[in-house]
Amino acid sequence: MGKNDVTNTVGENDNENENLNLFTSTQIVIHDALKKLGFTENAFEILKEPVRMLRVRIPVRMDDGSVKVFTGYRAQHNDSVGPTIGGIRFHPKVTEDDVKALAMWMSLKCGIADLPFGGGKGGILCNPRTLSFGELERLSRGYVRAISQIVGPTKDIPAPDMYTNSQIMAWMMDEYSRLRSFDSPGFITGKPIGLGGSEGREEAGALGAAICIEEAAKIRGLSIKGARVIIQGFGNAGSFIAKFMHQSGAIVVGISDVYGALYDPDGLNIDYLLQRRDSFGTVTSLFDGTISNEELLEKECDILIPAATSNQITAKNAHSIRAKIIVEAANGPTTIEATKVLSERGILLVPDVLAGAGGVTVSYFEWVQNKQGYYWDEKEVRDKLRKKIVYAFQQIYEISNNSNVNLRVAAYMVGVRKMVEASEFRGWI
Ligand code: GLU
Repeated sequence: MGKNDVTNTVGENDNENENLNLFTSTQIVIHDALKKLGFTENAFEILKEPVRMLRVRIPVRMDDGSVKVFTGYRAQHNDSVGPTIGGIRFHPKVTEDDVKALAMWMSLKCGIADLPFGGGKGGILCNPRTLSFGELERLSRGYVRAISQIVGPTKDIPAPDMYTNSQIMAWMMDEYSRLRSFDSPGFITGKPIGLGGSEGREEAGALGAAICIEEAAKIRGLSIKGARVIIQGFGNAGSFIAKFMHQSGAIVVGISDVYGALYDPDGLNIDYLLQRRDSFGTVTSLFDGTISNEELLEKECDILIPAATSNQITAKNAHSIRAKIIVEAANGPTTIEATKVLSERGILLVPDVLAGAGGVTVSYFEWVQNKQGYYWDEKEVRDKLRKKIVYAFQQIYEISNNSNVNLRVAAYMVGVRKMVEASEFRGWI
């Protein structure tokens, strides 16, 4: 990643907090899953919100000499299984409720991939597009100083998320190591390789989603070769998924970014688009004849991959989706109502907590490598990731069939189970 590449975004549509409260919807599905598993209301009391939520104010010296104070958050959902882990997003509209929901999703992803962690998430209210490189560095370091008491390699491990990347992780790791006066690579994941990062980390989220796409295609008897694919979002996840799909012989007929979408039923020139994409994951402004993100979602295709942001498929457009399979590479792209409509229509929907578990799985691998001081090659990382995601997918698919629930509820059932059991052993329930 280049020095000026300050984003590692999974999507950038600025209607992130549009209308639907992600936190409340997450609570509803967690409640459903616990009920299906026969757990008591006490289990819901423990899991219904993060055990810890810190709100901080971060003063930053701006390039013009003034001081601007930014608001930041760090949520830790549940630490019964082990330390918490999860990304930090830089976004102008991130809310406390979003951070809470995102921390809960991280717990579910950890449960699904069977990692020895609970979920955490951080956020800073800022617009990284308007900050200089120096301002971003001072903000990143200031955030670590502000949350330093509650994070650490055995407490809570941050990672990249929307608009944060390996350079930001490097500054944060350096700040933490200075505060503690010893080298602490295991404090944070998503670092550059030269600073203890893992091979295969950057594309891990996308690879996890691509593995789920293969598994879902097998179920539907669809060959990836020749399948028509639409990807909403061309950030870190979307662009790598486009690359993987193209390499597997799929025909990518649509992609989009925050400014609009490109659609060609004969297939887009993915190599060219990847080459021209900027560090904020935007490319469509180079073309005439774009359509809107909303229009793209309703185009006919075999596989639709929302890889942008939350609340994209809602009760309003769920009836108009014309895909056979949907694989959620973004966090929360489909509302609860839309999930119901899509499953009634027989569309196979692979939920975010499964399709998006690749990132945190390789974060776990990075943490393990830091702990043992011994580093794996890319093949080893990929093979280990594939094994975990395929196992999780098959387990969730089986539960969905046996318990007659959709894949989202089945994924939540797998995601909560270990946390509830660990909480019981600890005497919290
Ligand atoms: N940003 C990732 C996610 O939303 C979590 C952090 C990671 O990749 O480890 O799943």
